[in-house]
Amino acid sequence: MSITKYHKIIEQCSAKNAKLVVVSKMRTIEQVMPFYNEGQRAFAENRVQNLLEKQAEMPKDIEWHLIGHLQRNKVKYIAPFIALIHSVDSFKLLKEINKEAKKNDRILPCLFQFHIAEEESKYGLNMDKAIEIIKNEQFISLKNIEIHGVMGMATFTDDKDKVRKEFKSLKMIFDELKTNYFKDNNKFKTISMGMSGDFDIALEEGSNMLRVGSILFE
Ligand SMILES: *Cc1c(COP(=O)(O)O)cnc(C)c1O
Repeated sequence: MSITKYHKIIEQCSAKNAKLVVVSKMRTIEQVMPFYNEGQRAFAENRVQNLLEKQAEMPKDIEWHLIGHLQRNKVKYIAPFIALIHSVDSFKLLKEINKEAKKNDRILPCLFQFHIAEEESKYGLNMDKAIEIIKNEQFISLKNIEIHGVMGMATFTDDKDKVRKEFKSLKMIFDELKTNYFKDNNKFKTISMGMSGDFDIALEEGSNMLRVGSILFE
């Protein structure tokens, strides 16, 4: 692992008031713990099973983020402890999260995941679909979820202009949603974008939450 790299990214984040979420997927607990020992508390996994395994074994003051696709039948396992679900991409999923949150007497923070990359992907919303969710007549009655913002992944490419364009598009989506639907909601403020290969550009384009994995473990 690279503690030097970690501290450099932390510095870049604090300059931009951004939060670093360390992506621990595919790493052992032994590989991840050094970051905890440096003071890192926000970690992310992309699969529920791996999230549950690490959550059970690692210190209890860690805030766990889910960044991968979430199946409705798995929401119940993470509802008791999850800190932020980055990957909400349907109303049905949101309803299920609300139901399980209620059972646990919690209010669960969620992000709308947008499909901003050129690459084909089954997951992620576009603007029309997001508005459809917000305008669903039941949306307002979901008292046990809170929409905290948006998440997106840029195309995996060396073309920096392309990546920048995609991040700009997510920032615009965020601004538009904020203005039109979440104006008086001061919890709608998270723009989760930027990974190992593109977090510099993401910070320049308005990210306030990075999800960084591989570069920290090199
Ligand atoms: C794996 C993953 C990351 C981290 O990617 P790295 O390139 O390892 O930094 C961020 N976000 C999501 C959704 C991921 O699946």
